[in-house]
Amino acid sequence: MSNTAYEINLQTIAAIASEKEEENDHFLRSLRHHDGAVLDEMSNRVFQGVNAVVDCTACGNCCKTLIVNITPPEIERLAVFMNMTEEDLREKYIEESMAGNCFINSVPCHFLSGTSCSIYTERFTECRDFPHLHKPGFRERFLGTLLHYPSCPIIFNTVEVMKRELKFIE
Ligand code: SF4
Ligand code: SF4
Repeated sequence: MSNTAYEINLQTIAAIASEKEEENDHFLRSLRHHDGAVLDEMSNRVFQGVNAVVDCTACGNCCKTLIVNITPPEIERLAVFMNMTEEDLREKYIEESMAGNCFINSVPCHFLSGTSCSIYTERFTECRDFPHLHKPGFRERFLGTLLHYPSCPIIFNTVEVMKRELKFIE
């Protein structure tokens, strides 16, 4: 698949994803026959190529669906960036679980403006790392990756290129 063949239209991706549910289920099961390290190298390499072409600032779709976990140092940094007290920031934007884990209290995220992040330079580790295709553990995470396949152009295109490289589809 060449760069120009990447599909970035969200509605088209959602429609194709619906047709490919069974295929993706088979692809998931086929991954157990491949070496994890080979898959990690491939997903990172293919992801880098797709990521260089797909413009996240023109999409922002994950910011409409993800529950974003954040850490205390990130809350501290954001309070400074937004010129707010940490207490006010927590009151307005953050929820804390019984276990003490913090997360943004709205989906879509408060900080999404149109299709872009309004706190881009201060966005959280979870936002920076999504969709996690550059990290080791592709095979073990793939079920979770598939959840976002219908809504994330980077995941959709990376998975489709990998299916071809692995000769899963021609
Ligand atoms: S902080 Fe920014 S990048 Fe993260 S979910 Fe919110 S809008 Fe998206
Ligand atoms: S990571 Fe995926 S869903 Fe999120 S903005 Fe980029 S292309 Fe869109």
